Amino acid sequence: MNLANPASRSVARPPAAFFPVEEIFDILEPVMESGLKDRVVLVAGSSQGIGRATALRFAAEGAHLALCARNEEALQDLAEQIRQQFGVQVYSAKVDVADDAGVRRFVEETQQRFGHIDVCVTNAGGPPAKLFAETTMEEWDQAYRLNLRSIVSFAQAVLPHMQRQKWGRLVTITSLTVKQPAPNLVLSNSVRAGVLGLVRSLATQFGPYGITVNNVGPGYTATDRLKELAARHTQSSGASVDDYFAQIKKDIPLGRLAQPEEVADAIVWLGSERAAYVTGQTLLVDGGVYRGL
Ligand code: NAD
Repeated sequence: MNLANPASRSVARPPAAFFPVEEIFDILEPVMESGLKDRVVLVAGSSQGIGRATALRFAAEGAHLALCARNEEALQDLAEQIRQQFGVQVYSAKVDVADDAGVRRFVEETQQRFGHIDVCVTNAGGPPAKLFAETTMEEWDQAYRLNLRSIVSFAQAVLPHMQRQKWGRLVTITSLTVKQPAPNLVLSNSVRAGVLGLVRSLATQFGPYGITVNNVGPGYTATDRLKELAARHTQSSGASVDDYFAQIKKDIPLGRLAQPEEVADAIVWLGSERAAYVTGQTLLVDGGVYRGL
């Protein structure tokens, strides 16, 4: 079986009928597993939090990994843990995703080492929590570079490889704020909205090559990023950290924070064979916080 080409899987076919059974039967093939074994998955911003959990979840599915982040030591520790625990190949490199030349080098090195790139997860930290009047033009530029331009860099570098193999998954990570802007996250609210336009555009343009492009919007997730947001909130409001979390939980129908692994599961699903007919979408993993239809 050629993993780079899911269409190559052979199944017994029923006799031809007046509707195109062959085509439908290919689609209905009972693939219950994720189809990620031996795929090559690139996860950016993977030294901690949601990115780290995502790397571990893909490895558990048997995928080989290319990991990058700025914290080289944490990344190398994770790479070693994954090799030992799951027996898959892991390439890791220190990359600032805001540096497009660095992103290009990382993608090319991944392609050279593994011979293909099947899934690309674009993740990074979030911009600082600020009200509009507190922001500077430098912070707007940085937010654009970190949370929109970096995704363009990855897309530019990986899509030609995916196009050639006629299969690929691009999964961007943004935030619940792309659907429900938060008052003190004006940088995130604004810049990340652009990612949705990009995801839609790429899904349309690259669908004919068997490439899906989707976005995951995490809600309140138990990571360092949320601790950072809590610290900022307590500074500005004088409320305690406990009050902050109590307030948040009231707003979450499921009544608790997400674990990073729960967000990772949605990312892995979108990167798998199982989500083959889903593209151009934003999937919120927010415990029901977003109240819109
Ligand atoms: P986190 O801060 O815990 O982890 C971010 C990861 O990105 C780290 O591995 C970090 O090293 C890496 N990173 C940051 N800047 C980078 C750069 N310039 N180049 C390369 N790597 C870089 O964040 P998290 O909670 O795991 O969140 C992941 C994403 O989801 C972030 O964009 C965050 O804003 C968003 N998000 C998080 C929450 C939450 O509650 N945790 C909610 C909504 C959205």
